[in-house]
Amino acid sequence: MINIGWIGLGNMGSPMVKNLVKAGFKVTVYNRSADKSKALAEEISIGIAGSPAELAGTSDVIVTMLSDDKAVKEIYEGSNGILSVESKKGMIAVDMSTVSPDTTQALAAICKENGIAYLDAPVSGSVKPAEDAQLIIMAGGEEAVYEKVKPMFDALGKASFYLGKNGTANVAKLSINLFLGIVTQGLAEAVVFARKNGLTAEALLPLINAGAVGSGLTKLKTENIIHDDFKAAFALKLLAKDIRLAKENGMNTPIGLALSTTLQSASEKGHGEEDMIAVLKYLSEN
Ligand code: NAP
Repeated sequence: MINIGWIGLGNMGSPMVKNLVKAGFKVTVYNRSADKSKALAEEISIGIAGSPAELAGTSDVIVTMLSDDKAVKEIYEGSNGILSVESKKGMIAVDMSTVSPDTTQALAAICKENGIAYLDAPVSGSVKPAEDAQLIIMAGGEEAVYEKVKPMFDALGKASFYLGKNGTANVAKLSINLFLGIVTQGLAEAVVFARKNGLTAEALLPLINAGAVGSGLTKLKTENIIHDDFKAAFALKLLAKDIRLAKENGMNTPIGLALSTTLQSASEKGHGEEDMIAVLKYLSEN
């Protein structure tokens, strides 16, 4: 039985931990806001750690599922962070957050000096796939390390892919989210145009979904659009962060740059905490 230390109980982290416990893994969690750890411990059988350092001393595998690069760096390098103590011998660190390849490469190098093997393993799929253990997981780092933690990935997703050295999985994830953002804005623009010309979303979306341009994403967001439900499954601010990271890593293509401007402006107008499809709300107001 391996001991998994899990850091980050947000929209994604909580359902992922539930699936690990369901699959029989022993999991101890740490979350910055302790109320989330307590609430989860009332639902399922998990341990609670007081700090990332505490987890580093006891875990065979330590997983981070955090908002962004800053959060991941703080959890590793902050006081009481993972790197502040001697970790359990042979520990593997797996970062499943969406962050830049630069952050991964820097942390992987520091971890290596501390005897910790490091994988970047971001996920594709939102809250529902996380709940249903249907995520797609992509991994960068040493292949032998990936093979060791693959049983954990199997409990979290429907497929995992080994891509190559540290950072390659981050590049894959940012590529996917560039596409995701473009499709999301495209869907929103189609609805805005239809409404402007007197056609409702209720009329338009079944047509989109029945045709070749329909997709898992258009189907997933149909009910949200029709019912003006913008509660975050994937917060707009997180998509904005991913497109910013893509831009910082050389994305300079026309639709991506337009998307970047839209998301930044939508965040500034107060839509950051809403779901990414709130880009529709933003475009409707402007
Ligand atoms: P979320 O709901 O916003 O949760 C973020 C987590 O990070 C929380 O546990 C939060 O702790 C923690 N955190 C943030 N800043 C921190 C800091 N400075 N120090 C310590 N902990 C910190 O995010 P999410 O939707 O679960 O997403 C997590 C990651 O997965 C992100 O990188 C996101 O881009 C990626 N992702 C998300 C989705 C999705 O659909 N949601 C899909 C694929 C990938 P508190 O509870 O204390 O705030």
